[in-house]
Amino acid sequence: MDCVFCKIIKNEIKSEKIYEDEDVICIRDINPQAPIHILIIPKKHIEKLYQTDEIELLGKMLKIACLMAEKEKIKESGFRIVINTNRNAGQSVEHIHFHLLGGRVMLWPPG
Ligand code: AMP
Ligand code: ZN
Repeated sequence: MDCVFCKIIKNEIKSEKIYEDEDVICIRDINPQAPIHILIIPKKHIEKLYQTDEIELLGKMLKIACLMAEKEKIKESGFRIVINTNRNAGQSVEHIHFHLLGGRVMLWPPG
């Protein structure tokens, strides 16, 4: 399958992996939008957030995002978790992932 995140999971493309378990990996985003920009990615190839009923997996990804926020020392200062879905939101990789962003003040509303 021609999916960049599946290739990263299979180590066919290099990445800076900072977490891995049987279900999830975390990597640093190649084009960071904040001093800390980590992607939380399920190993299972799911294209859209609304296509899965795997509540447990999604919940686990949120907990891992919080763990990463703690490890990267942005828990107290603050962080944002973003899930872009489809064209208007700017989803560019068709394999679900949470963005964890922090290390700077974020704007609201987002751009
Ligand atoms: P989205 O636009 O929400 O689908 O997010 C996809 C993210 O994946 C973008 O922030 C990209 O910079 C990031 N990305 C794409 N290819 C790679 C890669 N090979 N390694 C790390 N991050 C990547
Ligand atoms: Zn994939």
